[in-house]
Amino acid sequence: MTKTDDNCIFCKIIKGEIPSNKIYDDEDFMVMLDISPASKGHAVLLPKYHAENLFELPDEYKEKALKVAGKCAAAIKKTLNCDGINILQNNGEAAGQTVFHFHIHIIPRMSGDNLGITWVQKTAEDNEKLAEEIKSNM
Ligand code: 5GP
Ligand code: ZN
Repeated sequence: MTKTDDNCIFCKIIKGEIPSNKIYDDEDFMVMLDISPASKGHAVLLPKYHAENLFELPDEYKEKALKVAGKCAAAIKKTLNCDGINILQNNGEAAGQTVFHFHIHIIPRMSGDNLGITWVQKTAEDNEKLAEEIKSNM
């Protein structure tokens, strides 16, 4: 593991100090079943590099992360025969992040499961100006 934090629960899981139900493991990532799942088969992908969030994670991990998430999501779908899968990733407390080691949620969905992963759509305000502002900060 290239970067680790002794106080991080996910780093402890990666090091094997805390047990987990792994479904995938390679030199850069592990994927485990969530201990408090939103649905049966809810899994969490962790890079073996302690980065608090997306902004701290090196690009090489970002590139590979979705590939691994896709592979695991396909296996979960085949196993559970679920109707859909949400791939979610929270950054910051305001966005619902509770463990501050970057991770991607893989959440199986069944039609009508009412998990509540949704939002009320608003009317866009001046998206033209906003798009320009965001582009200027790239
Ligand atoms: P967040 O809210 O930060 O996006 O997601 C953290 C996730 O990690 C939650 O879904 C939570 O249930 C899961 N989690 C927290 N501690 C553990 C643990 O010790 N083992 C496993 N397998 N999952 C955990
Ligand atoms: Zn960590």
